[in-house]
Formats: sequence, C-alpha cells, structure tokens
Amino acid sequence: MVSTRHRRSGIVPPHILERLAQHAPDDIKQCVLETQRANEALQRMRLTAVTALPEAADELRRTIYDAGHTQDLPGRMVRREDEAAADDREVNEAYDDLGRTWRFYKEVFDRNSIDNHGLALDGSVHYGRHYDNAFWNGREMVFGDGDGRIFRPFTRSLDVVAHELTHGVTEATAGLAYQDQSGALNESVSDVFGVMTAQYAAGQTAAEADWLIGAELLTDQVHGAALRSLARPGTAYDDPTLGRDPQPATMAHYVETRQDNGGVHINSGIPNHAFYRAAMAAGGYSWETVGPVWYATLNDHRLTENADFAQFAGVTLANAREHAGRELADIVSQAWSDVGVTPAEV
Ligand SMILES: [Zn+2]
Repeated sequence: MVSTRHRRSGIVPPHILERLAQHAPDDIKQCVLETQRANEALQRMRLTAVTALPEAADELRRTIYDAGHTQDLPGRMVRREDEAAADDREVNEAYDDLGRTWRFYKEVFDRNSIDNHGLALDGSVHYGRHYDNAFWNGREMVFGDGDGRIFRPFTRSLDVVAHELTHGVTEATAGLAYQDQSGALNESVSDVFGVMTAQYAAGQTAAEADWLIGAELLTDQVHGAALRSLARPGTAYDDPTLGRDPQPATMAHYVETRQDNGGVHINSGIPNHAFYRAAMAAGGYSWETVGPVWYATLNDHRLTENADFAQFAGVTLANAREHAGRELADIVSQAWSDVGVTPAEV
C-alpha cells in the first residue's frame, strides 16, 4: 500500500510541473497551477488501496465515466463492457487502453487484472479543465485533457495507461516503498511493464520498439520525443518551456535529491536502462525473454519493500538463473554491470 506521505503524482512528474509553472506562457501556467491544485486536493483525499477481494470471474470488466471537466469522480457513466463505441474519442481510447493492459497481464503472465482477483477496471476521462496529468488513484484510472500546447489528452498513450495500472500491480506484489531507490524501482517497474504492454499490443520486437513513455502526449510545439526514454535516458526532451530530461542511464550519474521522493522519476532511468539493455541483448520479444524474469522478481519474497537497486538486480539474476537458464542470466548480469549496479547475493 502506498504511504500517505509519499503519494504518487501521476504520469507527469513533479519536476516537469514545477518547471512549467515557472517557465510556461501565462495561459499554460494557469493550466499547470490548476493541475497542481487538483493534485493537492487529491493528496488530501484518502485513497483506497487495492484490497484482497473474493476471487472474481476471469474476465475483463470496464466502465468509462465522463467527469465533464470537473474534479468530481467518477462522473457520468458513458461506456460499459461490450457496449458500442461512444461518440467521444477520449472515452474510446480509455476503454481500449484499459482492455489492452488487462489482456497483456492476462495473456502473458496469466494475471487476473491488477490485483490478480479480477478487479473491474474503471476510468474517468475529461477530468478537470486542461488538466495536465493522468493517474491511478487506487480505484480507477483518471485522465486529464491536457492544455493543448504542451500536452495532448492523456488517453492517447497506451504505455502511460499501463504505467499507471502497473503501480497497482506493484502495490499488490512487491509493495516497493515510494521513496529513494525502492521508489525509483517502483517507477521503473511501471515504465518497463508500460513499454512491454505497448510492444505486446503492437507485436513489436525489442529492436523494433521505440522504448519511449508518453510519446503520443507531447504536441508538435514541444522539442522532445516523450516523457522518458528507456533506450537513452536523459534525451527524451530538451525544450525551453519543459526543460531538459534529467534522467541518468548509469550509477555514475545518480542524482542525489530530496525532491520527488528522492528522485524516483529521475533515477528510475538506471534500472530502466538495465532492462532495455537486457531485452535488446536477448533479442526477440521483451515479454518472452527478460519480461518474465522481472515479473517473477516482483512476485519473489526475496525482494523487500525497501529494496535498493543492488537487491533488485540480485533477485532478477537469481530468477534468470533459476527459471531461464545460463545464457539469459549472463545477459541480465551484463546489463546491470553496464549501468554500474553490482547485484547483491540473495
Ligand atoms: Zn509512476
């Protein structure tokens, strides 16, 4: 369960929102201030954690709501499972992205929804006015429409939806604490399973994929490709308004900071890049090679809630050896070595 003191902030990390609040043109600044105010209101709300429910049917159950540009959740119900498409692009995108994420976990890992107990997937679109974020609040997925100048509507990006839902998976499994290195691992796991979901939906090999998070969110007016890059952390954007992507790829550039819960959206670049390097070295589809090793790690009792990078790396290596064989274990070992992490003995 996520502690109340270190709550997640949604897909747009605090360092980007703070930068926009200072450097964006006045109209965007207004949108960002509104987003930050809404974030604060949310953090005062008590979020409901995913709790163990009775075993539910092994089927996809989605409900999409329209918040009608207010912050009242969930809003008006607009599309339920098996209903025809609505006359609203964001409603249909949210419906499709929740479905693709559910199918990825079901078909690849035989996981029955986020909690593995068949949790129904709800989503609310048109949250707030020009709201610059999307988040999973423990009960449902919430999407803003973006300000239109920097960010497009947040339903556009499947990897963003899968990133947010994966926070629910992590809560239900490893429970990685959202602070410092365990927090950066929590963020990284969401990015890793986010890109894997998008690769699975598109049928892409590791070599064919773009390895970007949120590429569909940035408008043409932004100098940047996405919010983050697993292939080249630190290069996702470099823009006068948005600032420059602060992610390191290796331990040599680890960022010590007290902001962002100890840089959870920044230092996640390091385990992200280790996964990328391992998947590229293994070749083929990421969800068939290193993906299962990372998933087994999340479900492994040897991984503690306050794990650091070295412990996480050690558990991935143990799982690769135990379940995937020598060749993949060597690949995983080399990937961690490349980013400057020495796997701990577990
Ligand atoms: Zn996140």
